[in-house]
Amino acid sequence: MDFGIKGKTALVCGASKGLGYGSALALVQEGVNVVIVARGAEALEAAAARLTAARAGGTDATAPFVKYVAADITTPEGRAAAFAMHKDYDIVVTNAGGPPPGDFRDWDRDAWIKAVDANMLTPIELIKATVDGMAARGFGRIVNITSSSVKSPIDILGLSNGARSGLTGFVAGVARSGLAAKGVTINNLLPGAFDTDRLKGTLASTASKTGQDVDAIRTARQKSIPAGRFGNPEEFGAICAFLCSVQAGYMNGQNVLADGGAYPGTY
Ligand code: NAP
Repeated sequence: MDFGIKGKTALVCGASKGLGYGSALALVQEGVNVVIVARGAEALEAAAARLTAARAGGTDATAPFVKYVAADITTPEGRAAAFAMHKDYDIVVTNAGGPPPGDFRDWDRDAWIKAVDANMLTPIELIKATVDGMAARGFGRIVNITSSSVKSPIDILGLSNGARSGLTGFVAGVARSGLAAKGVTINNLLPGAFDTDRLKGTLASTASKTGQDVDAIRTARQKSIPAGRFGNPEEFGAICAFLCSVQAGYMNGQNVLADGGAYPGTY
């Protein structure tokens, strides 16, 4: 299926690896130009080289461009650097690292502000900076990478549960504010367990806390998911690219779960 977005330009945040990278990969394979952002320059440059090799059109002059900006997207300077590279994005995938797990008794105001900054205010700033231009041009797609914890909270991820719920509430309102009639959709894509460095880190930290073998924890976790496995960044990216497609123009203000069936609710 041709998603109808060839030649559009996307800003993909947190894209040197993991789910952001998977999203950028699916978009360049659809012929979308991408600007990828992450803090670590070396991994980002290597990711850009892999995306360039994988893009639709190969080395043709019509192939999409892949550019990168080494920056912290949660800062005003980082966002300014992303917009200095390209101004009028048609697609924005918001993403940054998730907040650390822990006990809410240990989180002070600074910990909360950091989580809210990264996982609520940064996507809001990116939405604010782009949707009016998208509406004026008649097409726009925002996909916020959030978490299945928005629907099914995980107690040790309280910073994530709280900050991402704030974003989810904001999106529910703004997606219905009249932008959709001008071709702009805003949706949240909620990962369950995906095999990325972040998940590896969470499993390792559980192993060190409980003294259990990390492979045993991994196997038990996979068994607890109806799909019997973790997701991979490529399949996550494909869903993201679909949400950015012309065909998904009537999907707006949704929280789309990609979790192998782990969320147990009927609705
Ligand atoms: P990951 O593999 O650790 O990748 C995170 C990416 O974001 C890296 O490219 C990282 O590069 C970049 N990044 C982190 N902080 C950034 C910042 N401030 N500015 C710019 N780039 C930044 O993580 P992931 O598994 O893909 O997770 C992506 C998001 O989904 C996270 O918010 C995570 O909490 C959420 N999530 C993941 C899962 C899962 O199972 N994987 C489940 C639920 C929710 P640098 O460190 O070099 O900046």
